[in-house]
Amino acid sequence: MSFFRLAEEPMIIAGPCSAETREQLLSTAAALKPANLTLFRAGVWKPRTRPGSFEGNGEEALKWLQEVKKEYGFAVTTEVAEVHHIEQALRHDVDVLWIGARTTVNPFHVQQLAEALKGVDVPVMIKNPVNPDVDLWEGALERFERAGVKKIAAIHRGFSSYQASSPYRNQPNWVIPIELKRRRPDLYIICDPSHIAGKRDLVAEVAQKAMDMGFDGLMIETHPDPEQAWSDAAQQLRPEALLQLLSRLIVRKQSAEDLSKSSELEYLRQMMDTVDTEIVDLLARRIELSERMGLVKKECNLTVYNPDRWREIVETRSAQALKLRLSPEFILDLYEKIHHESIRRQLDILEAGDNSVKD
Ligand code: PEP
Ligand code: MN
Repeated sequence: MSFFRLAEEPMIIAGPCSAETREQLLSTAAALKPANLTLFRAGVWKPRTRPGSFEGNGEEALKWLQEVKKEYGFAVTTEVAEVHHIEQALRHDVDVLWIGARTTVNPFHVQQLAEALKGVDVPVMIKNPVNPDVDLWEGALERFERAGVKKIAAIHRGFSSYQASSPYRNQPNWVIPIELKRRRPDLYIICDPSHIAGKRDLVAEVAQKAMDMGFDGLMIETHPDPEQAWSDAAQQLRPEALLQLLSRLIVRKQSAEDLSKSSELEYLRQMMDTVDTEIVDLLARRIELSERMGLVKKECNLTVYNPDRWREIVETRSAQALKLRLSPEFILDLYEKIHHESIRRQLDILEAGDNSVKD
């Protein structure tokens, strides 16, 4: 089987968070048989937040995964976090390995795992690090590539944060996987809505959003009795719920086949390019004004930041946004960035020459 080929149909990976017992694993596989999975997943070494939690059945569970392959014809995948995990997984015919989010954060660790795969032809999926750092994620991909691993995919599973107001367990920060795809247009990126959502009821909406954004596949945790699961009990779906989710999923295409629609899109894209060029020109003009103000402030010995002026800018721009049916929060966010850049440029002007040694 060939993995990570860019295709019309999304790749679907499902199975329990952890392989708990032989019965649990085989009954999940039996119930998922109609789902036409690309890969059956199950963790056999589990990275748990606190000691004393169930940490997986290790090698014994790899034998159950072999049974799943034989009985149901699924290709299988598991998480590896140590060199000996890789050795054992390969000895037990695991088809695809995945690197967990807590491993991707550690370059030493990733390097060791990559080196253990030198000369081994096994596909590897690399979850994003728990912290929102696209370079660290890409760096992990590079370590495996440099070790000669050819078939690589990325898994977006969201990012940790202490955001009490968010309904999600891990923040999706969609801009990060989108940036990775911009850097690597040919990289296969799979979304893991289970670990983003953290709650069963939110899995379907995150899965659909991933499809709307053009992700190449989904990895969804599935358990025959999720409430009693030994790990991630709140987010796993019953197999029937997964089948229902898949049947309702709307898969979107990157480009329109209908010619009239695609020329309409092309026309709209050209208009958007023109508007964007104007936006960037206007920003350059605004910065130029701000630099001229910086020179005046320097001459008059005035502070760069003026709270009254900033308040006035926020009030007038938000009011204008409201009139134009734009979200004032969006405009405020944008203006914070613009204002920040103005201040940075003016500070450069104020500081230029001030501390230089004169002869
Ligand atoms: C998992 O897939 O069960 C898992 C532990 O994932 P993550 O590394 O994303 O937390
Ligand atoms: Mn899990």
